[in-house]
Amino acid sequence: KRPGSAKHPGSESTPGMDPFADTLQRLREAFVSGRTRPAKFRAAQLKGLSLFLQENKQLLQEALAQDLYKTAFHSEVSELILCQNQVDFALRNLHTWMKDEPGAKNLMTQLDSVFIRKEPFGLVLILSPWNYPLNLSLGPLVGALAAGNCVVLKPSEISKSTMKVLAKVLPRYLDQSCFAVVLGGPEETGRLLEHKFDYIFFTGSPRVGKIVMAAAAKHLTPVTLELGGKNPCYVDDNCDPQTVANRVAFFRCFNTGQTCVAPDYVLCSPEMQAKLVPALQSAITRFYGNDPQRSPDLGRIISQKHFQRLRGLLSCGRVVIGGQSDESDLYIAPTVLVDVKETEPVMQEEIFGPILPIVNVRSLDQAIDFINRREKPLALYAFSNSSQAVKQMLDRTSSGNFAGNQGFTFLTLTSLPFGGVGQSGMGRYHGKFSFDTFSHHRACLLSHPGLEMLNNIRYPPYSDFEQKL
Ligand code: NAD
Repeated sequence: KRPGSAKHPGSESTPGMDPFADTLQRLREAFVSGRTRPAKFRAAQLKGLSLFLQENKQLLQEALAQDLYKTAFHSEVSELILCQNQVDFALRNLHTWMKDEPGAKNLMTQLDSVFIRKEPFGLVLILSPWNYPLNLSLGPLVGALAAGNCVVLKPSEISKSTMKVLAKVLPRYLDQSCFAVVLGGPEETGRLLEHKFDYIFFTGSPRVGKIVMAAAAKHLTPVTLELGGKNPCYVDDNCDPQTVANRVAFFRCFNTGQTCVAPDYVLCSPEMQAKLVPALQSAITRFYGNDPQRSPDLGRIISQKHFQRLRGLLSCGRVVIGGQSDESDLYIAPTVLVDVKETEPVMQEEIFGPILPIVNVRSLDQAIDFINRREKPLALYAFSNSSQAVKQMLDRTSSGNFAGNQGFTFLTLTSLPFGGVGQSGMGRYHGKFSFDTFSHHRACLLSHPGLEMLNNIRYPPYSDFEQKL
């Protein structure tokens, strides 16, 4: 029988009181008791997650529709299926992942047993953002639970409806002595971060990533930071413009452009730009009709604050497609900008909306130079009919993830690690990488209690030995 409704620390805090202390203490005690370690317990938590997804599908779809105007289909493909895949994959592989891994031996350790033990860190904190509020909460949670940790999840306060479902319903499916959802915005999260955790997994902006890392440093807590940034998209002159336009427009506008790995800007020649702009117009009309505001497949901007920020970006460069906005509806039309200057805000900050600037470059070399002069992006896209050109882009740049002639389908694979590099983050997850992220890899050597003769050789004095050298 499932326990009753959970309390949500942080939701009503009394001044002077620490709203999180009791919860964290309870979770720490549960971890020390060792109950999260057995495979059976871990599998039960993962099955609980799976059941949560199945039994609350409609509730989750409604919450995602309220928060992000997602259709049921969109919620399914961008959130629910991805979560379910991660859970299923972890359940299928849990026993294999948990096994000690034998280590190679040298002459001195021939008679010893040498292996890597994957042990849980202890108490883990997961902080998630609002743009895929379910997937970016449950995705890391799968890894943390599979690895045998106790977990505190702090979902984004901005995606309110999903946050409520996670806080009210999810704990009923998990062991509440080992798992808790806590609530709060920047202030409460700041207080939460004063506590010592054994691992912190953060998904969000680079600005807050720095705050999280600084707080973690006080306790020497290891972190994974899944951050964002500007993802370049190079388009070679030899491409078919319509094929590229379909793929770029689709991945730029997916979730109304509010995706950390979305192509942020296009780099191409003026000649390709002349062909690409009408092709992008045709793709946008095909996907969202003549009036995209009426399309059920285009969402809305999450908040007034982000709407205002995006509306400001529409004044950069020259609008060649879209450009309309409606504050009462938090609507920004799919928009393409040309003639943008590198110094304008649209080329300085992560766009995070359905706006695509095009920057002109004369060659592949110039595009590579443009990319390498900037922070390392989370994703880098290269479109070309020449596999050599795609390979050059891959070989001569760095990014968290890379795709040739495609959008961000790489993140649907449990076989690939997902994570940033440099300014776009540190650490990785998905599939087995999640399990490894949340496990300490403990080096173990078990020796024989006897056989002292073999050990005698390494004890001082060394004078006899030195004379022989
Ligand atoms: P955010 O950094 O504002 O918030 C993320 C989390 O941090 C939330 O839970 C929020 O409550 C908390 N937070 C906010 N301000 C805080 C503060 N001052 N102190 C402590 N905690 C604080 O990010 P967001 O707006 O929710 O999400 C958008 C950003 O996340 C974009 O930059 C995007 O690229 C990035 N992102 C990255 C990935 C990835 O996988 N790499 C995925 C999604 C989003």
